[in-house]
Amino acid sequence: MDSQLIDRFNRKITYVRMSVTDRCDFRCVYCMSEKMTFLPRAQLLTLEELELVGRAFVELGVTKIRLTGGEPLIRKNILQLFQTVGKLKTLKELVLTTNGSQLVKMALPLKDAGVKRINISLDSLKPVRFQKMTRIGKLEKVLQGIDAAIKAGFQRIKINAVILKNRNHDEVTDLVQFAVAQGIDISFIEEMPLGEIGERNRAEAFYSSDQIRCDLRQTFNLIPTIETTAGPSKYYRIAHTDTRVGFISPHSHNFCDTCNRVRVTTDGLMLLCLGQEYSVDLRRVIRAHPGDITHLKETIVKAMAIKPKNHNFELNGQPQILRYMNITGG
Ligand code: SAM
Ligand code: SF4
Repeated sequence: MDSQLIDRFNRKITYVRMSVTDRCDFRCVYCMSEKMTFLPRAQLLTLEELELVGRAFVELGVTKIRLTGGEPLIRKNILQLFQTVGKLKTLKELVLTTNGSQLVKMALPLKDAGVKRINISLDSLKPVRFQKMTRIGKLEKVLQGIDAAIKAGFQRIKINAVILKNRNHDEVTDLVQFAVAQGIDISFIEEMPLGEIGERNRAEAFYSSDQIRCDLRQTFNLIPTIETTAGPSKYYRIAHTDTRVGFISPHSHNFCDTCNRVRVTTDGLMLLCLGQEYSVDLRRVIRAHPGDITHLKETIVKAMAIKPKNHNFELNGQPQILRYMNITGG
């Protein structure tokens, strides 16, 4: 089925990222402040509402859904959502972004529910540093989770690493070596200025994809590929291995032309662009017309008229986007 979601710039929307919870068992320094206030439960979409939203998008031609958060796997009964969305006939890809903390017990059931690919965040291979970056995470648990995911046999597993200058920039080579040894992929992410995280200046910690590529070339032969996800990623293959290295550079504008995605926040806002505030309140529509998928679909189609041409991130000064990444869904 062709997508019925086409915006003013003739871009087809085929990919939706849904944040299924704003809660998390980590407090990564780039994502959350130390003391977070989470949304009151009544404001979160229920699992049934999330399912309805997923179904509406798929009926409108969306072929890829990513469930994220917060930490999606700590939401109670979340497997139920994976199972129902995984059964939607025209959905080609159900994927997940996770911090890996729950994968030892969840990897196999997720695979059985139809999850094809999974992204696992891992910023450091040093236990003390890992704990500092996540404030409370345990590296050992995540490494065991990665192992469980590999054993479960997903089509592809990718590590996501946010690189901050003077925190973990000296580990980019080790992280790629780890990915090669495990036979999985890895992407490096430039930090985005979402939410007020206190404590430090984001501009001082900025470590660009160009710098990382330059560091990696000291050790690896990076072969450019033409693979793309119509997002801010550029992929390279490491010669003589199965590993691909991606660079996610949200500060670059040149992917907006082919943008194929929208996001749904934990509280049901459909965000037309990660770097702008244009949004439509789907929760209000769902709660005013419970179970009415037609009304919901009409709202989503109408929202295409306000998808902006491109985003604008500014590292210096106050964050322009006050939403935290855990609500938005990374
Ligand atoms: N909890 C899961 C995890 O950590 O993978 C899923 C949600 S998390 C918000 C999704 C991704 O966003 C992670 O890979 C994380 O590293 C990334 N992220 C969080 N805050 C970010 C920021 N300010 N800039 C860039 N990436 C960020
Ligand atoms: Fe939690 Fe993921 Fe944010 Fe880290 S990046 S605090 S794991 S939601």
